Amino acid sequence: MKTAGVLALQGDFEAHAAALKKVGLKVSFVRSADGLREVDGLVLPGGESTTMLKLLAHDGMMAPLRAFAETKPVFGTCAGVILLAREVSHPVQESLGVLDVSVERNAYGRQNESRIVALTPEEPYRQRTGADRIEAVFIRAPILRRTGPGVTVLARYQDTPVLVEQGNILAATFHPELTASTDVHALFAAKL
Ligand code: GLN
Repeated sequence: MKTAGVLALQGDFEAHAAALKKVGLKVSFVRSADGLREVDGLVLPGGESTTMLKLLAHDGMMAPLRAFAETKPVFGTCAGVILLAREVSHPVQESLGVLDVSVERNAYGRQNESRIVALTPEEPYRQRTGADRIEAVFIRAPILRRTGPGVTVLARYQDTPVLVEQGNILAATFHPELTASTDVHALFAAKL
């Protein structure tokens, strides 16, 4: 059985753990560079990217995490996408730079403008999951302002990419861990 790590410094890592177990993975919470050695892939959860960055820097995890994300399966949701992005704005902040996207933080408005919407995913997603609908929860979500040529869009909301893939990296600006469906986590599990 493969082991999925979940970065557990801050944010909604417990919800990811539950979803990953449902798709048949063993789960290990990662709180140090050493923890990365024991997992086959890693989820970077939603939460507050600024706080996560501070904790990652404090724990000496930026370089090991970047090296991991360059080759191993990783799945970022919301704040996790902000950590993975090549470029972050509103405001500008440091990131791992491994996913070729430009992301603007908090672009869908404030907390009380958070929303749940039904998306019709793109064909590659439908083929791989057998699902033709995604229930997407957006919570102070970032928006992908640019996606590089190596990035495949799996779902859009209001014409903007919200679920993308680049090789070993899967990234959702919404929160698939907060809905009953495990389709997106199954997509990640297939990468391990
Ligand atoms: N607004 C948060 C940030 O900028 C992300 C929100 C989330 O992960 N739900 O880091």
